[in-house]
Amino acid sequence: MAAPALELKGISAGYGRIEVLHDVSLSVPAGTVYALLGPNGAGKTTTMLVASGYVRPTAGCIHVAGSHVNRVAPENLAKAGVCRIPEGRGIFPNLTVNENLRMFTYSSPFSTSEVQEKSYARFPRLGERRNQLAGTMSGGEQQMLAMSRALVADPGILLLDEISMGLAPKIVSELYELVGQLAQEGISILLVEQFARTALAVSDYAAVMTGGRIAMVGQPADVADFVNEAYLGGAA
Ligand code: ATP
Repeated sequence: MAAPALELKGISAGYGRIEVLHDVSLSVPAGTVYALLGPNGAGKTTTMLVASGYVRPTAGCIHVAGSHVNRVAPENLAKAGVCRIPEGRGIFPNLTVNENLRMFTYSSPFSTSEVQEKSYARFPRLGERRNQLAGTMSGGEQQMLAMSRALVADPGILLLDEISMGLAPKIVSELYELVGQLAQEGISILLVEQFARTALAVSDYAAVMTGGRIAMVGQPADVADFVNEAYLGGAA
């Protein structure tokens, strides 16, 4: 059996002297979508930051496709196939859509024109706005551009942090269509989402975090029941 795409074992981590994650373990099997749910401040984003090398754990191990990667710098983890689409989009606001896509292709296996073709086929709206400064686009359009990074990277594990943040339901469902498509292409995905139901609909596994600990791991249906009882994130 293939090694998990991402495995965290007994992770403790935090900011300065404040420990935020306490003994967090999770395993994203290769080719699956794994949702990480939980109330505000539970430690979901911190978990993503640990997985992508931006926050160093004070205890525990991180494995990517079976290789131990504690202390590996974020840029080297990116080369090893860890692609994070950060909360707040992670695009270049003062560059056009075309220029952003060109920046994304830096150290990518795909050429700029291939990436533009793929992105514009997936999101025609981006094609229409190819010469517009990214920072002047709507939130949804900016998120589409951010998600195009995943089409560029051919990632081993894709980390998606609250891609629905502040967006209209129609845009959210377009973005989740892409998530479903990437999953069908065999990309392993760990996603953090405030809308539990939206996330569970595309997930193979899910975990609920509370207070910096994993409170439950299971199949989406079991987790949905737990979420509804544990906090109000199941409202959408
Ligand atoms: P949300 O759903 O609100 O985004 P989350 O589950 O992603 O929350 P985190 O962002 O990981 O939670 O935050 C977990 C805890 O760590 C919170 O108490 C937060 O205040 C704290 N925290 C996050 N970032 C920092 C930081 N840079 N410095 C100090 N504390 C931080």
